[in-house]
Amino acid sequence: MVMREKTRDCFAEVQSTIPIVVVEGFMAASGGGRYQKRLPDRQVFVARVGPASSIHDRACELYYSIKGGMVDYGEEHSSCFNHGRYGRTYPQGLYPQWSTSKPLHFLGHSMGGPTIIKLASLLAKGTFGPNSHPDMILSVTTVSAAFRGTQLVYTLGMRVDRAPEVRPHTAGRRLARGVHIISYLAPIMPKKWDFHAESRGLSYKDSDFKTLLHQLRKSDWAESRDAGPYDVTFESVDEREKDGEGFCNPRTYYRSYAACWTKRKSPTDARHVPPMTKMLGVSRFLCSRSIGSFDFSTLRPSPSFWKHVRPFTDEKNASQDGLLLQLGEEYWANDGTVPVFSQWHPHDCSATKCIHHDPLENNAMENPFADPPTPGVWHVHSLPDAHHRAVFPLYLGTERQQKFWRELNQYLHTIDDSPII
Ligand SMILES: [Zn+2]
Ligand SMILES: [Zn+2]
Repeated sequence: MVMREKTRDCFAEVQSTIPIVVVEGFMAASGGGRYQKRLPDRQVFVARVGPASSIHDRACELYYSIKGGMVDYGEEHSSCFNHGRYGRTYPQGLYPQWSTSKPLHFLGHSMGGPTIIKLASLLAKGTFGPNSHPDMILSVTTVSAAFRGTQLVYTLGMRVDRAPEVRPHTAGRRLARGVHIISYLAPIMPKKWDFHAESRGLSYKDSDFKTLLHQLRKSDWAESRDAGPYDVTFESVDEREKDGEGFCNPRTYYRSYAACWTKRKSPTDARHVPPMTKMLGVSRFLCSRSIGSFDFSTLRPSPSFWKHVRPFTDEKNASQDGLLLQLGEEYWANDGTVPVFSQWHPHDCSATKCIHHDPLENNAMENPFADPPTPGVWHVHSLPDAHHRAVFPLYLGTERQQKFWRELNQYLHTIDDSPII
């Protein structure tokens, strides 16, 4: 009897809190119910989006998976990028009542962050009809989000001078081949290998073997401007930001966690190196080192943050191997996948509203609840000595992970109880 009442109480609490949608990153397999255990007193939905899709396509898939119905990528978008306008149908959405009066919290990791931002932008543009509005997103919490791109995409194969072309014999080219082979065999593949590629007609039911061979030589998808890899190039980010995407909605709460596990090379060299002692794998170490020493001057077109940098003329600074110290170290500091500046928020700090709660060099995790949450402004927190998956989506029960989920739970409750609702 007591047990039944307790269950009823828990159910009532879950019903009274605002649900949260988890959006995972590039090539991430859906985490299923594992997040529900971390936030037991609220409904947790895991977004069903294509792991390699572009952020536009992911945002559309995210919207329809929540509301239900047939995924519509938009007439203009689909004809521009030469794929079908419609995707799969969700007869039952995760939360069909989603609206401005029934908003949702969102939690994104890595590419999940820009996916949520794209969704907010499409809601603001009325892409999903006159009733869509960015107020439908009550809060955005991100961890290691690639809001402003990552130089890792060039290391993995993207051409620095001609994106979205991918160099032959690179990890990027191999990854694209894998996606095509899995998509070709989609009807018989396990659910976790679901690339949501219906609109591209890549499966053996929609295309022939000759087409597959062509795609394996040069992918029309992976090497296009409508794919995940291109979306994390600085060129793509600049295009989106120029288009006005990513500015704060005054009624949405924003919070980001920026992870970093590298250290500055020296006081006079802003480049970063990963720690040998914490090496968790050769590939992650090499990726981290590559991000930490990347030469932005090789990029064509130059990223917006690089354009105001001027070469030093005096001998002292010229000896820095051409590395221009006018940028902060946050452009090289990284978590093994994304540089720190990109994890903060969309747009440069000078162009958006943001509060950075603890600087990069501060190793203490401060209490984020010192002030009540405020909407319309990014609250940026740093995660020192943390790699890309140290906090989320992996869960190993570490002290930091426990603290993260506990604090997230508390933070969401504070917003649920805020006067804006
Ligand atoms: Zn598309
Ligand atoms: Zn900022």
